[in-house]
Amino acid sequence: MFENVKAIPGDALLALMMEFKKDPTPAKIDLGVGVYKDDAGLTPILPAVKKAEALILENEQSKGYIGPAGAPELAPLLQSLMLGDQHNLIREKRIATTQTPGGTGALRVAGDLINALNPNAKIWVSDPTWSNHFHVFAGAGIEVRTYPYYDAQQNALAFENMLAAIHEIPSGDVILLHASCHNPTGIDPTLEQWQQISDLVAERALLPLIDCAYQGFGDGLEEDVQGLKLILEKSPEALITTSCSKNFGLYNERIGALSVVAAEPEHCNNVFSQACNCIRANYSNPPAHGAAIVTTILSDQALRQQWETELSEMRTRIHRMRTELVKNLSALSDERDFSFIAAQKGMFSYSGLSRDEVKYLKDKYAIYAVDSGRINIAGINDGNLGRLSQAIAEAID
Ligand code: PLP
Repeated sequence: MFENVKAIPGDALLALMMEFKKDPTPAKIDLGVGVYKDDAGLTPILPAVKKAEALILENEQSKGYIGPAGAPELAPLLQSLMLGDQHNLIREKRIATTQTPGGTGALRVAGDLINALNPNAKIWVSDPTWSNHFHVFAGAGIEVRTYPYYDAQQNALAFENMLAAIHEIPSGDVILLHASCHNPTGIDPTLEQWQQISDLVAERALLPLIDCAYQGFGDGLEEDVQGLKLILEKSPEALITTSCSKNFGLYNERIGALSVVAAEPEHCNNVFSQACNCIRANYSNPPAHGAAIVTTILSDQALRQQWETELSEMRTRIHRMRTELVKNLSALSDERDFSFIAAQKGMFSYSGLSRDEVKYLKDKYAIYAVDSGRINIAGINDGNLGRLSQAIAEAID
């Protein structure tokens, strides 16, 4: 069986990470990989997480299976983090949430669920989108199509084209929307634009699949789910995937969730049972530790307060790096206006740098970014900002 198998080319971003690791240049800068880094260039364990882990170590009684849907205490905590305690979907029991291995696991279970419920449905994703969306849904056997999202001329949302394309999506298909901090562009719809998107998605009777991977990394925990809430106001059915990788810094614990929203509690329970069935066929049970950390933090008032402060420090640092970079670039060069970078949200920025400029930065300065011009703003710090700004000014000259 194995004799004639050909190797699949590795993921381009992983290859870039390997190249960065091997590069001996002391002042090298990594703007490629999608993890948060602090001002020292490290991806730290949040102190709130350390405290929660100490409590778990002390109190954990068993390593028994936690069941396909995961820790039962996690679901209501994640629901109210996303929607607020008083949300009508929670009161009316029209939302059910299962723990998953990261946001990716949630997306895969969502894909399997969609395939089980309607194998003819297609999933429409933004162009561009997080590249793994294509792999995950293809793995679940679902056809993926794209709708326009990015206007390269204006470095902005291609809003009119996006609406026109959504208008043509057949009813019953699935539309994937990023709740906030769009990966890779960093460009989110305004609230007015979300209003129009949510009206159109409901009018077309599309099933919204909202990928919520960066709550708290854009403008704040509540602000980053305003678009998501508008969608849920208008569409009676939806799927939401949550990742706790970024906002809790729990990348390698694989903790996320899939929420099902339905018009009636009974529909919700039925669909949820189908999701659990997909989980059983896939990995049976999720890992427990990440869920225990998130549950411990969200259910303890002091720990939760501490986590919110630590999350806001990450968010504020990213904002500051965006504005400092723009300020530096406008002082160094009048070749190009980079002010749009300051208005983008979350870790990522479509910087407008061309493939050749990205290559120049790597070859001459050991500055690593993705070919598309996507840069991870969290890779910038006070120590490398000056060198980076000089290098970009030179690359675009
Ligand atoms: N969705 C988007 C848009 C992402 O950018 C990511 C991670 O980069 C994920 C989902 C998956 O996150 P996780 O690491 O929790 O699987």
